[in-house]
Amino acid sequence: MTDVAIVGAGFTGLSAALELARKGFKVTVVEEDPEPGGLAGSFTVGDQRLEKFYHHWFTSDQHIMGLVQSLGREQDVLWHPTNTGMYFAHRLFRLSRPRDVLAFTPLSFHNRLRLGYMTLAARRVKNWRELEGVTAKEWLTKLGGDQVYRVVWEPLLIGKFGEYAEEVSAVWLWNKLKLRGGSRGKAGQEVLAYYRGGFSALASQVMGEITKFGGQILLDTPVRAVSSVAGHVNGVATSKGFISASSVLLTVPLPVAANLVAPITHAGYAESLRRIRYLSNICIVLELNRSLSSLYWLNVNDPSFPFVGVIEHTNFEPASTYGGRHIVYLSKYLPPSAELYRMSNEDAIEVAVVALKRMFPGFQRDAIENAHVWRADYAQPLVERHYSRLIPDFAAPVKNLFVSSMAQVYPEDRGTNYAVRNGYEAARVIAESLRQSKATVNDKSLSRAATTSP
Ligand SMILES: Cc1cc2nc3c(=O)[nH]c(=O)nc-3n(C[C@H](O)[C@H](O)[C@H](O)COP(=O)(O)OP(=O)(O)OC[C@H]3O[C@@H](n4cnc5c(N)ncnc54)[C@H](O)[C@@H]3O)c2cc1C
Repeated sequence: MTDVAIVGAGFTGLSAALELARKGFKVTVVEEDPEPGGLAGSFTVGDQRLEKFYHHWFTSDQHIMGLVQSLGREQDVLWHPTNTGMYFAHRLFRLSRPRDVLAFTPLSFHNRLRLGYMTLAARRVKNWRELEGVTAKEWLTKLGGDQVYRVVWEPLLIGKFGEYAEEVSAVWLWNKLKLRGGSRGKAGQEVLAYYRGGFSALASQVMGEITKFGGQILLDTPVRAVSSVAGHVNGVATSKGFISASSVLLTVPLPVAANLVAPITHAGYAESLRRIRYLSNICIVLELNRSLSSLYWLNVNDPSFPFVGVIEHTNFEPASTYGGRHIVYLSKYLPPSAELYRMSNEDAIEVAVVALKRMFPGFQRDAIENAHVWRADYAQPLVERHYSRLIPDFAAPVKNLFVSSMAQVYPEDRGTNYAVRNGYEAARVIAESLRQSKATVNDKSLSRAATTSP
């Protein structure tokens, strides 16, 4: 019997397991994929691991840095200056430094100043609750006016949230402005961090540490159901058998959690877990024999373009890491019913080739050495107005059953940094509840011993 069964070996599950194992509890992590990392999981390019979906950290990501430090691996965090740009009206614009905004000709000069002012205004908002009842559209239009909204923000919101764009909360956008705008070096340029060996190297190191403290990690083992007796959770049923546990922590997407707990909770609870809507994501990862541009991050502000971002990873982590290959991600958030999400990998790659030819007229198919397609069904929760009212409690209505998933990260948006924060917090609460249960059991056996002694 384990103290805590943790479902999911993404960064929430791994950090919760690590913290509990370090505190001396018996933990078992159960993961359906053959590898850990979840959405920050990787695949192999040459002899290197690379994220299926582009990943970086911001200078403010203190929780994941704390995790790295606790492993004694600070030297493996690689800080790199990066360049950001925007594709608008068939042209590329650099938007990395504050002065690039002044040269952004699609906006009138007055509106360029307003765009620059927005990041500062966003950083001045201290109480996000002021923005909870406001949509991003309402807030952005008020701050920057119609032209800035139409040229800069609307295409990004549509690119990321599609038909839900006008429902997105101002809180979500506020965070993006604050975080991305704030991740800067001394000279004002954007600075982001990567991890030596990729995020999977960190996930493997965390796994190693969990096992060092006696924890167990079962990969390739889908959990089929959570089980309870008399209102207390008592374990999980997996594809490889039953695991008895005093506590269960679910770190899976909320709709998946709903299916796992539906038979042991009331229908209203399972429904509440299904209330938050998600978008899926498709990433086409190209290994190229030449670079596309000098930009790391290219926002696509053209709704007719099939992707919302073109991310040249090797303008962040050098191409030499991947034997000279230039790595490019083409990313699109979309409902799982969308044609691009459902088409074959070959067809999706073809869509990417046509799109890149349009964006970079000199681009040739023979630049592609290899191509990969990755899909995530639950990639981005739709953060709508009054989102805080939709977030389910950490404690489920079954004793010792807990839920900590990406959609509960708020007011910040999802990210490995917050996965670690929530994982640690989950560990703190679960450790406390296990200690209390053990104390109650001890008290009961003591009083039984006292009443039966002569
Ligand atoms: C396109 C994209 C880009 C991103 N970019 C960044 C970035 O630059 N920086 C950053 O920090 N974050 C980024 N993120 C977000 C980051 O990946 C997530 O916030 C974080 O990885 C979530 O971790 P998690 O453990 O909460 O959830 P997940 O990673 O989703 O982990 C949940 C785990 O549960 C497992 N699971 C599901 N069902 C079952 C079951 N029945 N049985 C057993 N296991 C199950 C899954 O396989 C998965 O491993 C990005 C995400 C996406 C989609």
